[in-house]
Amino acid sequence: MLRIGLTGGIGSGKSTICHIFHEFGIPIIDSDVIARELVEPGRPALQQIVTLFGEQVLQQDGSLNRAKMRELVFSNEQHREQLESLLHPLIRLEMQQQISTLDSPYVILAIPLLFEKGWQQLLDRVVVVDCSEEQQRERSGLRDGSSTQTIEQIIASQISRDKRLAAADDIIDNSGSLESLRTQIYTLHQRYLAMAANN
Ligand code: ADP
Repeated sequence: MLRIGLTGGIGSGKSTICHIFHEFGIPIIDSDVIARELVEPGRPALQQIVTLFGEQVLQQDGSLNRAKMRELVFSNEQHREQLESLLHPLIRLEMQQQISTLDSPYVILAIPLLFEKGWQQLLDRVVVVDCSEEQQRERSGLRDGSSTQTIEQIIASQISRDKRLAAADDIIDNSGSLESLRTQIYTLHQRYLAMAANN
């Protein structure tokens, strides 16, 4: 089974694109979903996070206060590294376990920080979603109401657009309409099916 990594900056359109691949019948493994599940109440990773950052990262019901956590890690490099070295090995393990249960010509692994984590070696190919930083700001602000400052910090913490594009095997241009997006994904889907058949 071909493993296709999908990445792109915040608000570039990764989730939207995953939905479309999924409609074409392709399984999606999303590292963000795995990361969220890993820190659900009762999971050991959540307890380790509290040990690192204190009770301030919990909401009253005992679940992770994601907004607070974001604030902490995006304003402090050391906090970010601590959180990542705790979660990354667990996420990789879970992704590999999920891959092993699948039966499909190819799988999409949506990994927002693919290059930052250096996870290329887990993959056969990497597809990068691209749009302008202006569109990233606009779209992520509309979507989740994060403050402009938080979005700026996240964009600044991610690999630059140029570097991401330079490292891509394939590029999805999401600077246009959703219709154009769908057409590009259909073309890629056909290409990946052909690659998987030749594999
Ligand atoms: P990501 O998962 O990369 O953070 P999303 O797929 O959630 O990005 O997209 C961010 C927001 O932009 C969503 O509200 C989505 O509906 C919207 N969006 C994505 N692509 C387009 C597009 N081509 N035109 C208009 N809105 C878009």
